[in-house]
Amino acid sequence: MTYLGGCLCGRIHFEAEGPPIEVHYCHCSMCRRATGSAFAVLAWFDTGDVIWTRGRPRILRSSSMAERGFCSECGTPLLLRHDRDNRLALMVGAFDRAAELEPTRHDGVEARLPWADTGARLPERFTEEVLTRHEAA
Ligand SMILES: [Zn+2]
Ligand SMILES: [Zn+2]
Repeated sequence: MTYLGGCLCGRIHFEAEGPPIEVHYCHCSMCRRATGSAFAVLAWFDTGDVIWTRGRPRILRSSSMAERGFCSECGTPLLLRHDRDNRLALMVGAFDRAAELEPTRHDGVEARLPWADTGARLPERFTEEVLTRHEAA
């Protein structure tokens, strides 16, 4: 099944061939800053299963082990990619059919905001990634 998505301004469109490898919440401090929100919801695909059909995200090195991509026009966060990993994560909110991409676990729970009340019965994991561009909150 193919999932379509794109950024707020429409400069960037993508297609991802699914089903995704996994979908999860990430509460880590880097995802919070990258999204400007309380947490990210990430859908992971093999890199080869994602095609940029219009435009390309601008890539920013965001930590010692990862880079992120966003629309340079409207700022919509679009992707997260760890070094030495042939998968990439797309932000679930950027998908046309986001309702079909349901998270199954929590990541980065060391930074979860106490009022971020969602997916209460899902498994949890701490993150090993270290923020380099800002001091962790
Ligand atoms: Zn855009
Ligand atoms: Zn994260």
